[in-house]
Amino acid sequence: MQDKKCEESCGLFGIFGDAEAVQKTYFGLHSLQHRGQESAGIASIDGEFIQCYTGMGTVRRVFRAGRDILEKLSSRIAIGHVRYSTSGTSRIANCQPLLAEYSRGQVAVAHNGNLINASLLRDEYEAYGSIFKSTSDTEIITHLLAKPTHVGKSDPLAHVLNHLQGAYSLLFLFNDRIEAARDPYGIRPLCIGKTGKGSYAVASETCALDAIGAEFIREVEPGEIVRLDKDGLHSRYFVTPGTITPAHCIFEHIYFAKQNSTIFGENVHEFRKKLGRQLAKEHPVEADVVIPVPDSGTSAAVGYSEQSGIPFDMGLVRSHYVGRTFISPNQKLRELEVRLKLAVVNEVVSGKRVVVVDDSIVRGTTTRGKIRALRHAGAKQIHMRVSCPPIRFPCFYGVDFPTKEELLANNRNLQQIVEFLDVDSIGYMSLEGLLQCATFPADHYCTACWSGKYRVPVDVAVNKFSMEHYQMHMFEDLSENYG
Ligand code: SF4
Repeated sequence: MQDKKCEESCGLFGIFGDAEAVQKTYFGLHSLQHRGQESAGIASIDGEFIQCYTGMGTVRRVFRAGRDILEKLSSRIAIGHVRYSTSGTSRIANCQPLLAEYSRGQVAVAHNGNLINASLLRDEYEAYGSIFKSTSDTEIITHLLAKPTHVGKSDPLAHVLNHLQGAYSLLFLFNDRIEAARDPYGIRPLCIGKTGKGSYAVASETCALDAIGAEFIREVEPGEIVRLDKDGLHSRYFVTPGTITPAHCIFEHIYFAKQNSTIFGENVHEFRKKLGRQLAKEHPVEADVVIPVPDSGTSAAVGYSEQSGIPFDMGLVRSHYVGRTFISPNQKLRELEVRLKLAVVNEVVSGKRVVVVDDSIVRGTTTRGKIRALRHAGAKQIHMRVSCPPIRFPCFYGVDFPTKEELLANNRNLQQIVEFLDVDSIGYMSLEGLLQCATFPADHYCTACWSGKYRVPVDVAVNKFSMEHYQMHMFEDLSENYG
């Protein structure tokens, strides 16, 4: 598992019409594990009722405990979810899929993204007495679906989606179908595949389709709802196509998505290699070796090496067996932790002028630890090259960056960053260079964490604790009663 600098909000997988729907959902979720490791869950239909099994931890951990559940959930329809909390803290009540019952029956919901108006909507519903069982933004969707004035609409789901603001790729499991929807800006990815005659899968990334042998058909379009039922695949739109310019999260391409996935019309590895080549054009340097920060910096380092002619080598090796260590009380132990996770191959860097390529720098503390380890191993010069621009602004669309104040580039100029990291030089990709490498026109991407221009207006800054004050009040009351 990666030592992650920031976290994605979630991964989705669903399948309709397959005799091994639950087992394939399990495999699909495994391949999306990089999108969230805090909790996992699968909802399926047992006879006529939706059953949902969720737990804290990785897919392997959750379903090792509930192995018999995988066998019991034997229906031909399933949806699943892996979560990292960007709205609502990490706890069992916030695990997904979220299961709810309302006047039309049951529904299970799985969500990737962040709803920026969830807190506002929740306040409105609570003012009329609604009770919420979680602190995640996703739960408001089930309340919107259940509202009597919404239930009566000709297309209740489309009507509900038009009330949501922000980033959302969604899977809904009803007792006879799956509905997959993507927000009008297409911020988070979502794709469809075919697994056999009359059988379809839907996933956050194509790597999950590959994992179960499904054939990629296409992406779910921004503002589209795709319904999978016994009659096949049906498409409809809840916003008129072409009326909203997309805002795909380009950070998915740079950091989050898996190298073998194709998202936003392009393979992730190829895109990152292009970034590396562009980076070498923008920031050339005389050096002996190009090394990546694995894993997400590897493809860009290959591109940098190809363009510059400087040999590529593996100077840092990641241990995939070290999870979160939790022992970080002081700087010295923190550095030991970095070394444990990312070991230096001394023979590659000793006495050399080294170009280190990373996909991004968020806080900079982990990067500084790696640089120290390289110096310790005898690197003569260290030139840092970063395949995205300096991150200066938070994300409100489903990526858990630290606060603005904690971002390395927020209050520092390049010289100060060089000093902080203790490198001989630094070169960040320009925003123009980044967008030149992209498949779609420049205005089809969200670039807010570099530019500060938020395409979906953010009136109130939300974070993962925005709806947590309810729980805190509860504990405060308890302490008053029992303290
Ligand atoms: S702010 Fe950055 S991370 Fe968030 S959606 Fe936009 S590009 Fe992606």
